Amino acid sequence: MTNDTDHGAETGRDPNDDRRDDRRRHANDEPPLINIENVFRRYPTGVEALRGVSLFAHEGEVVCIIGPSGSGKSTLLRCVNGLEPIDRGRILVGGREVRVKGREAREIRRQIGMVFQSFELFPHMTALSNVSEGPRTVLRMPRDKVEARAREFLAKVGLADKADALPAQLSGGQQQRVAIARALAMQPRAMLFDEATSALDPETVGEVLNVMQQLAQEGMTMLVVTHEMAFARSVADWVVVMENGQVLEEGTPKRIFEAPRLARTREFLQRVEHAPAPTAQGLQAYNRPPD
Ligand code: ADP
Repeated sequence: MTNDTDHGAETGRDPNDDRRDDRRRHANDEPPLINIENVFRRYPTGVEALRGVSLFAHEGEVVCIIGPSGSGKSTLLRCVNGLEPIDRGRILVGGREVRVKGREAREIRRQIGMVFQSFELFPHMTALSNVSEGPRTVLRMPRDKVEARAREFLAKVGLADKADALPAQLSGGQQQRVAIARALAMQPRAMLFDEATSALDPETVGEVLNVMQQLAQEGMTMLVVTHEMAFARSVADWVVVMENGQVLEEGTPKRIFEAPRLARTREFLQRVEHAPAPTAQGLQAYNRPPD
């Protein structure tokens, strides 16, 4: 029997943890949709960004990855999407191993939507064209279907009336919602969010978190790297704490936030809780529907 107050645990990862077993049972013994097994990644510069990371997400689960800057969270997401090679271990999406090159790599990447901190929209294209681009060029859908689909996803993120706007005419939050619509238009099996709200003005953070929460409620499988602890706490099914290229500990949001096992996790959580809250206004808007 695991004891939540057992702060003496060496690693924070306990193979007998009853909650881990619970989580597996809830998933009806299906294999995870995303399975990361003992992954290592060393950059050519010599930085060891990932040092034996394992984690998984079942279909429909939201897994939030938190931890100090430089702990390898972003690298991990890029590896899941095949944007970054790994040196050891393996990553399976839907039972297929992720590759960085070739047809298989493209097929897997198509199944995973990724949203970056910096939006990455085409600046010379309207919101509608940005969302249409993937379905048109990658999925090769006919023009009328592409446009209908793009409008549907813009509406889904609350931007039906911004179809003809260029990115520069939109707020950061609106641009990020276009980026989410663009990823969704490819009808991915899972979505990866890499600090999707970190570059936003405080007042637009909430509208993006709202869209992410809505997706979670609809059953989208999501890996979310975030500094928004309130979001992780209320939306995640599972929270993974990373530090120095490793998983420090993981558990339900309640367990991680209320009874972290490791002193390092507690220190990190205290630091972020006591940091100036740049997103306070955004969080006020958190439960408002996007405009
Ligand atoms: P996090 O997302 O947790 O902030 P990152 O994955 O961005 O962490 O970075 C992990 C480590 O890898 C850091 O030491 C960072 O400086 C390094 N790093 C990230 N990207 C690169 C890169 N393209 N080339 C070399 N080192 C990198």
